[in-house]
Amino acid sequence: MRIVLVGPPGAGKGTQAAFLAKNLSIPHISTGDLFRANISQGTELGKQAKAYMDAGNLVPDEVTIGMAEDRLEQADAANGFLLDGFPRNEAQARALDVYLAGHGIGLDGVLDLEVPEDEVVKRIAGRRVCRNDSAHVFHVDYKKPAVEDVCDECGGELYRRDDDAPDKVRNRLEVYHRETEPIIDYYKQQGLVVTISALGAVAEVTERAMTALRAGGEQRRSA
Ligand code: AMP
Repeated sequence: MRIVLVGPPGAGKGTQAAFLAKNLSIPHISTGDLFRANISQGTELGKQAKAYMDAGNLVPDEVTIGMAEDRLEQADAANGFLLDGFPRNEAQARALDVYLAGHGIGLDGVLDLEVPEDEVVKRIAGRRVCRNDSAHVFHVDYKKPAVEDVCDECGGELYRRDDDAPDKVRNRLEVYHRETEPIIDYYKQQGLVVTISALGAVAEVTERAMTALRAGGEQRRSA
């Protein structure tokens, strides 16, 4: 399956993507993770991306699209992938369509995670992420680790992402509404969007997502 995951910051995209990718045996490709890996390795691409990320703005398309396509070229993505955080604007969505069409393939679904804005703000304000694996996500109130600032899953150090600071979050939400939300309509025109609520326990949301993706696929096949 080839799936795109969309939703505001704090919707739980990273967490859900990790579970869904495992269930579907496809790689989880997060452009945010790719950028963060480049930054921690001190690459030229990381240097180009850092200032945009720190401000909560989008990294320019020239940098982002090339990086995403390079990742899609890797062998593990040949039979499917789950894209998390890409595309994030209409130009990227169009570029992805051109790329996929050039390979004779297309998307199977776009999963839209819906969360009320006040919930998003609460989730991000207390979010702590593991330095070893961004899918290991905790919260200072809702999901405390057994030992403060230590990941329950792997013992890694938990930290607050720089762009999770309240002033950055406001901008990220604005960017989401202005740049990213329009791609939902873009994909609706292709009949690809399934929308689910991202509220509730992580496992419940994963189950809801799996059911919605299966139903969406069946509907398209019978259309
Ligand atoms: P995320 O981990 O998905 O929340 O992404 C963190 C940050 O990385 C975003 O706020 C952007 O600055 C940058 N980023 C990630 N994906 C993209 C993308 N597709 N286009 C532009 N910037 C991106």
